[in-house]
Amino acid sequence: MMEPYKGLINQYGNFLPVTKQTPVITLNEGNTPLLKASHAHEIIREDLSLYFKFEGANPTGSFKDRGMTLAISKAAEEKAKAVICASTGNTSASASAYSARADISCIVLIPEGKIAMGKLAQAIIHGAMVLQIDGNFDDALKMVKDVVAKHPIVLVNSLNPFRIEGQKTAAFEVCDRLGAAPVYHALPVGNAGNITAYWKGYKEYQAAGKINSLPKMLGFQAAGAAPIVLGHPVAKPETFATAIRIGNPASWKSAVNARDESEGKIDSVTDDEILEAYKFIATREGIFCEPASAASLAGVIKLSKQNYFKKGDTIVCTLTGHGLKDPDSALRTSKEPIKIKAELSALEAALKGCCI
Ligand SMILES: *Cc1c(COP(=O)(O)O)cnc(C)c1O
Repeated sequence: MMEPYKGLINQYGNFLPVTKQTPVITLNEGNTPLLKASHAHEIIREDLSLYFKFEGANPTGSFKDRGMTLAISKAAEEKAKAVICASTGNTSASASAYSARADISCIVLIPEGKIAMGKLAQAIIHGAMVLQIDGNFDDALKMVKDVVAKHPIVLVNSLNPFRIEGQKTAAFEVCDRLGAAPVYHALPVGNAGNITAYWKGYKEYQAAGKINSLPKMLGFQAAGAAPIVLGHPVAKPETFATAIRIGNPASWKSAVNARDESEGKIDSVTDDEILEAYKFIATREGIFCEPASAASLAGVIKLSKQNYFKKGDTIVCTLTGHGLKDPDSALRTSKEPIKIKAELSALEAALKGCCI
């Protein structure tokens, strides 16, 4: 019998900074679906091979679980009493879940009024101390950096190197499934930890002889929150893709490095372009991701229109989080249900011209 899947520390421990002494705190994260797009020809040139890495299938619904299993396992190894993070939502959801399991207190700082409902519910239900500040994500991140410099609390934002280590395993999975690295790997960029992590993962897999080539990394920021594209911090970042509403990314330099070393690109996409991709992924691909996740595909559509890709290129888009986290965005941008009488004739009238 095949051994059951036990999470990514068990799966990829050889590539991770763990020892036999590390208590493994896991929710069996990772091992997420890599799905071939079913209707890619409708939005990009048809001789491309497009895949989605659906990270919404992780236990708390985003890729943050990959970094968090490692960050919380290492915090437990150090006998930490408390962890803290600033979050646009998903980091707090993940940190609170893994902390609950590890019996470590979790404190989360979230920006006022801009966090998706599902994410807030997660932090609360897992028992974290949730502090909402009257500032944005960048303000919250500065506060947690300052507090951990003074007090014995472990920071679990992606400045914590264990977060990046855990997140790099997504690149391993892509290569294991495809049997090679893709030609391009596209993802949304917020605090820029994930693009940093994927690039590290691909390079380590190549060094280990598991793949022969490296992908070009494509990062996409929302136009209203595009500091790396603009070349300067954005004081008041704005986008409906709240998970990437960040004006001064912590991993700015390493994201630029990933772009330059891989000969890739970091570009911006408008909220309209993100929305179009978000709807396409849901209505044509059957995958419900959150708005920020769709920035990866929005960017690929934009570049395809510019004839950026070549015949036969394989492109993987990471869909970073699950759409259920943010039902408001889904409802706000879609048609309302059609109200009818509870009668067969009313049903038939509604179906006329559609399927009868
Ligand atoms: C955190 C997050 C991002 C941004 O990732 P970074 O590592 O901060 O660049 C994008 N999408 C979702 C859903 C996220 O939770």
